[in-house]
Amino acid sequence: MRATYLPDGHVGLHPRRWFSLDDRPDAPDLACTRPDLLDADGLLVASIGALLLEGPDWRVLVDAGLGPVHVPADATHASIGAMVGGGLVEHAGVVGTVDAVVLTHAHDDHAGWALRGWPGFAGLDGVPHLVGAGERAPAGWRRVGEGDEVVPGVRVLATPGHTAGHVSLEVTHAQGRILVVGDVLHSVVQLEHPEWGSCFDVDPIASERSRRRVLDALSVPGTTAVATHLADVPFGVVRDGRWEPVGDD
Ligand SMILES: [Zn+2]
Repeated sequence: MRATYLPDGHVGLHPRRWFSLDDRPDAPDLACTRPDLLDADGLLVASIGALLLEGPDWRVLVDAGLGPVHVPADATHASIGAMVGGGLVEHAGVVGTVDAVVLTHAHDDHAGWALRGWPGFAGLDGVPHLVGAGERAPAGWRRVGEGDEVVPGVRVLATPGHTAGHVSLEVTHAQGRILVVGDVLHSVVQLEHPEWGSCFDVDPIASERSRRRVLDALSVPGTTAVATHLADVPFGVVRDGRWEPVGDD
C-alpha cells in the first residue's frame, strides 16, 4: 500500500474571513498564535493537490487539483487570495492510468483537471469518476455514499457539510489505515478548534459534525491522515489532539 501526494498549486486564505472568526470574538489571532502557518501578507497558506493510492492490484487517484489556471486575489471571494494551479501535469507520468478517480467534492480546487477533461494526462481517458451522492457534478460521474467500496480496502465515508456530497476515504491495509479527509480540514488549527468551519460550508452544523467524527477516527492508533490543504504536512497522525507530520509512502 502506497500513498503519494502530488502537488498542483497553492492558495492563500484570509484566516479571519475563511473561518468566519469575526463571529467568534474570543477566537485567537493566528498572526500571534500561529504565525508559522501564515505568509508575509498574513494569509493562511494552503496547498492544492491530488493523492495517488496504490494497492496490491489497484490504483486510485483522489482529487484533481485546480488545473492550469492562475486566479488573482479576491477574484472569487474576499476570503481567498491568489490561487495557482497546474503543477499536477508534471506528475502525469506518475499518475499513469488508474482504476478510478475519486473526487472528495466538486469544488474547483479538487476537481479542476477533471472538469477540463485532463489535458496532458494520457492515462485518464474513460476512467470512472466517483463523487458523493448529493454533490453538484457533471452527468456521467458515478455516485458513491457511506460504506461503498471503491476498490478492495478503500471505503467511502460520507462527511457532508463543506459541500452536500463531500466524502472522505478510509483505506485499510496490513499496517493500519489511512483516512483521506478532503476539506473536512483546511488547517491544523481545526484540531484545537473543530468548531471552526470554512465560510464556504453549505451546512456548518454538518461540517462540524463531520470534522468531529473524522478527528475521533484519527485519534485511533495506527491511523494516518491525509489532508491535502495542509501545506508541507499533508500526511500526519493525530496524537494528544495535535497534528504530527509524517512523510509520504
Ligand atoms: Zn479545498
